[in-house]
Amino acid sequence: SDSHFPVPVSPSHVDYSLSYPLFFTSSDQADSSRKIKFADIGCGFGGLLISLSTLFPDTLMIGMELRDKVTEYVKERILALRISNHSQYQNISVVRTNSMKYIPNYFEKGQLSKMFFLFPDPHFKEKNHRRRVISMHLLDEYAYVLGIGGIIYTITDVEELGDWMKTCLESHPMFEALAEEELEADPVVKLLSSATEEGQKVARNGGQTFQAVYRRVVPSQ
Ligand code: SAM
Repeated sequence: SDSHFPVPVSPSHVDYSLSYPLFFTSSDQADSSRKIKFADIGCGFGGLLISLSTLFPDTLMIGMELRDKVTEYVKERILALRISNHSQYQNISVVRTNSMKYIPNYFEKGQLSKMFFLFPDPHFKEKNHRRRVISMHLLDEYAYVLGIGGIIYTITDVEELGDWMKTCLESHPMFEALAEEELEADPVVKLLSSATEEGQKVARNGGQTFQAVYRRVVPSQ
């Protein structure tokens, strides 16, 4: 249960020096204002973070994962990568938490520039739809922590969930779909399937995927 993991009381209590030691050494004061910019929600085994790490080496990113053992695995994976690739993979980290409850404990208003919801659990039954990580209510929270122009990336192999996520995003006044040419120009879009463990599984089985990529906008009056 939630009582088994610590939760920071506010974003200013998130200990960056533990997660990103190389960026937050005492001699490097210039970096003390640096904030996490990307959040991979339900990161699973961490494949996306690892690909993004070298693509955006100066951006701090975090994976949020509910399962204890999976979180520990990702921690070990990152540590091993840091050791075998000196000075790389210092910008990624993982935390065990329930993202449906604690996003505002980790991020300030407008802090994030990208959020990822890749192959989230589908919760098929109607009575379990409230457990879905994308909902109108949770989009209010995500809109709060995303800066204007920030992007939400979602992908699933479950068509019904894909429709659900797209409908929620489309109905929300603070999100707007990226245009086709923007999707094509964004190198991150290609990673949604290819870099994630779930995406690779779906590709191996020849499955279809459904993505929705939306930008945080100022609602029109
Ligand atoms: N995104 C990864 C990928 O594409 O390979 C993993 C997808 S996996 C199907 C969904 C993950 O979300 C699981 O690892 C699960 O433990 C995690 N998860 C589910 N609910 C969560 C929550 N409330 N907070 C954080 N993680 C959660």
